[in-house]
Amino acid sequence: MRPLIVAIDGPAGAGKSTVSKLLARRLGLSFVDTGALYRTVALSARRQGIATEDDAGLAALLGRIRISFRATGEENRVFLDGEDVSAEIRTPEISLLASAVSARRVVREGLLGLQRRLALEAPVGAVLEGRDIGTVVFPDADLKFFLEASPDVRARRRYEELFQKGSESTLDAVLSDQTKRDRDDSSRAVAPLKAAEDAIRVDSSSLPLSEVVQRLERVIRERLAVRGP
Ligand code: C5P
Repeated sequence: MRPLIVAIDGPAGAGKSTVSKLLARRLGLSFVDTGALYRTVALSARRQGIATEDDAGLAALLGRIRISFRATGEENRVFLDGEDVSAEIRTPEISLLASAVSARRVVREGLLGLQRRLALEAPVGAVLEGRDIGTVVFPDADLKFFLEASPDVRARRRYEELFQKGSESTLDAVLSDQTKRDRDDSSRAVAPLKAAEDAIRVDSSSLPLSEVVQRLERVIRERLAVRGP
């Protein structure tokens, strides 16, 4: 039987990472952070001086590099050619660059196979977090969720996360970067950020993320029970 595929899409700061990680842990599923793939490509392109518009350069880069994940304790680390880049890909600069490279068709197509493989090799199932999981990567996912929250709530969450990591970004800067990223991600020609028609929409503006996890967990457990062992 194919592993259970759970798609969790939504804009930046909607709580996808926190919710997806907790769900995967509680349900014994694999977690695939697809944003980390775009971020790692962005980091590698910047290091090698490849411009966002250089499709040939980006295609060659995708053929050369190897991105992998490794779960260490509670954490999911990301590796670029064996180097742990987990912290480096989370800076505000790489967030914007990831959004820019992710608008290139060559990058999206180049990462499609890897995203599907990472999910399909999961023993029981996988929770995939991203922008186009339910629409493009797995249009036939077993369950699709679209997480939303107001721009202010999302910016505050992201700001607190960055603050805890020692970043000196201000709330205003986080909100402004987020607005740009949302606009670019939603308006791009290839695989724009949007909810699949059959996605369950959850607004967490006034809902603690622990409550969101409980709601989604209930729905996923019901689906797992129907599938049987
Ligand atoms: O989710 P995260 O903030 O890590 O994603 C970084 C960027 O990667 C997003 O702003 C978006 O442009 C891009 N992305 C995407 N499709 C995905 C996941 C991320 O375009 N499935």
